[in-house]
Amino acid sequence: MPVKSWADKLLRSLGEEVVKINPEALESRSRDESGLGPFLPEAVVLARSPEEVSVALRIAQEERIPVYPRGAGTGLTGGALAVHGGMCLDVSRMNRILEIDPENLVAVVEPGVITGDLQRESESQNLFYPPDPASLESCTIGGNIAENAGGPRALKYGLTAHYLLGLEMALPGGERVWLGRKTKKGVTGYEMVLAVVGSEGTLGVITKAAVRLIPKPRASLTAMAFFPQEQDACRAVGRMIGEGILPRAMELVDREGVSVIRRSVDFAMPEGTMLLLETDGTEEAAWADMERAAGFAESHGASQVIIAQDERRARELWSARRSLAEALPGSADDDICVPRSAIPEAVSRIREEAGRLGSELVIFGHAGDGNLHFKIKQDDPERLRLTREAIYRIALQLGGSLTGEHGVGLLKKDYISWELPSLSLRLQRNLKTLFDPKGIMNPGKFF
Ligand SMILES: Cc1cc2nc3c(=O)[nH]c(=O)nc-3n(C[C@H](O)[C@H](O)[C@H](O)COP(=O)(O)OP(=O)(O)OC[C@H]3O[C@@H](n4cnc5c(N)ncnc54)[C@H](O)[C@@H]3O)c2cc1C
Repeated sequence: MPVKSWADKLLRSLGEEVVKINPEALESRSRDESGLGPFLPEAVVLARSPEEVSVALRIAQEERIPVYPRGAGTGLTGGALAVHGGMCLDVSRMNRILEIDPENLVAVVEPGVITGDLQRESESQNLFYPPDPASLESCTIGGNIAENAGGPRALKYGLTAHYLLGLEMALPGGERVWLGRKTKKGVTGYEMVLAVVGSEGTLGVITKAAVRLIPKPRASLTAMAFFPQEQDACRAVGRMIGEGILPRAMELVDREGVSVIRRSVDFAMPEGTMLLLETDGTEEAAWADMERAAGFAESHGASQVIIAQDERRARELWSARRSLAEALPGSADDDICVPRSAIPEAVSRIREEAGRLGSELVIFGHAGDGNLHFKIKQDDPERLRLTREAIYRIALQLGGSLTGEHGVGLLKKDYISWELPSLSLRLQRNLKTLFDPKGIMNPGKFF
């Protein structure tokens, strides 16, 4: 196939080390973890620096080529997929931790840094970067910012947005701008960083980020509470928090999900719906909070609460929880968010609707935040779509959101107007035009 003139221009400017047009490079970026696609880009730019990102964006703007930013491709809604061909701008090689500043509790990183690497590096200096998406061993900080990634610990510590102080972004055309700051406080001008958080690669390419660290908690404890009745577990989530008990994580895994986890750990686990709890702080505080949480669970329907007796067992349990979605059959992991007090109603209505459509369902997720995840087993594509739509409707009827953390991407672009009022959508479209007047950034997504 002849090389397109714009790809040739890229090759001449950035060289063969950076610009790839061989089938393997294109093929390996034609999918992400959403199960959508494949969508082949026509060229892949494996940028090594902000300057190379800028060059690629300058050529893309001149030639009006679609640009699809990509981190690790772990996205679950197809955000990084090249639905209109064009250029995949892959920043995974920009993976250096540039600075960890313990006095100011700040880390400066390149966008391709793997989240787990930043966590380990921070913890080696007694610091803590709390955002912990289950994909933390493979996803990137740039992808986390673009999706406002959460995770189990978001319950106590918040989302990626709450740790982002500032970022450098390359705009279509190639100019780079620093938004935000490196200090904890600073209110000069609009909080532009937050416009970029969750923008899913539709505004520009994040080329650097300054994130907030906190001191590492001295101890943490993990426990499993098993409930014979699913609704008891669902009610316990909001009520426990209403009682002033705030673990750092409170994950719900339904009976089917528990049976999968039971097969992957090497210790005996009861059956039932599980709340996976984690507390932290000083050793005394972690134990005191866990005792309160365990006592609460037992008095609200849990038949057993098992505290992981050592770190190895806790790690094993969390690793099984993190791998759960991949271990389950069915569609890609999808998510919604509801107020946590509405979890019992959400779960029972979702089960009812899925049953009516003949779909099998596993429900799990970051229940402490009302963030329910589900995998659907349904061979008929039309019924799969109807099941998803029924679940999205339930989330919105209960005052929730179409997605708590996976984003809109390609999967939910047709539903965005179900949630956002038209004026809000118009403002967002205008913001997009301001950053990207020629519409080259991640076209075919979001709106
Ligand atoms: C097993 C598994 C578990 C998961 N668990 C969680 C979880 O607990 N919480 C959670 O929030 N998510 C979770 N995810 C989803 C996914 O890992 C996150 O959305 C993650 O933030 C994506 O990062 P990435 O580097 O893979 O981004 P990609 O998939 O490469 O891209 C995602 C989006 O970000 C954009 N993007 C990427 N890098 C940049 C950049 N530098 N500048 C501008 N835009 C960019 C892309 O264009 C795309 O729209 C999970 C996924 C899997 C497979």
